[in-house]
Amino acid sequence: MKKLTLALTKGRILKETLPLLREAGIEPLEDVHTSRKLIFDTTMPDLQLVIIRGTDVPTYVRLGAADMGVVGKDILLEHGAEGLYEPLDLGIARCRLMTAAPVGWRSDGPRIRVATKFVNIARNYFARRGQSADVIKLYGAMELAPMMQLADLIVDIVDTGNTLRANGMEPLEEIAAISSRLIVNKAAMRSQHDSIARILADLAAAVEGAGHAAA
Ligand code: AMP
Repeated sequence: MKKLTLALTKGRILKETLPLLREAGIEPLEDVHTSRKLIFDTTMPDLQLVIIRGTDVPTYVRLGAADMGVVGKDILLEHGAEGLYEPLDLGIARCRLMTAAPVGWRSDGPRIRVATKFVNIARNYFARRGQSADVIKLYGAMELAPMMQLADLIVDIVDTGNTLRANGMEPLEEIAAISSRLIVNKAAMRSQHDSIARILADLAAAVEGAGHAAA
């Protein structure tokens, strides 16, 4: 039988994914946090893990290099989810994609400047609202942009809001609620249906169990 590959997003999402996988009977055979490997065999002999950047996960899954993936909804919204199934909300790494501005900021012109990593989401959001916006792509430290007069607003991920507050900013409006999703390659869903359906069911049960544990 062909081995299935599950692509995981490294970092914060990985930390929250591993307990769900364990609950579903899937454990990497080595410590993913200390190993420098990128591919890991698991306790499920026909399933391997690859651990990569979140923005690369949909690419691997869309092109069939991985059969399944775990990725934040923010990335699916920003880069598109065409060619992918998104059958399960894992309910982990929850946060909100929001607009934010320096405390007390008021729009005083017809155009606003928005700094963000999520340029497509930001453009769509302001276009839907009929607001003219110059969207400036940044790769990190979005909060710095208003302080340095590079932008008026930012669009960013907010969890506790501590990062915003520490930089004199406040959240304004929620664009989307974010959590991590299981995505599946469309062709693999047909050709490997039984194995994928079993993993999906086990993961869904693990998500359900985690929800009850949190409640
Ligand atoms: P906070 O200070 O708790 O609002 O966290 C804000 C920062 O943490 C954001 O700028 C993000 O870079 C990061 N962050 C928080 N939650 C997530 C998440 N679920 N996925 C990815 N990054 C996150």
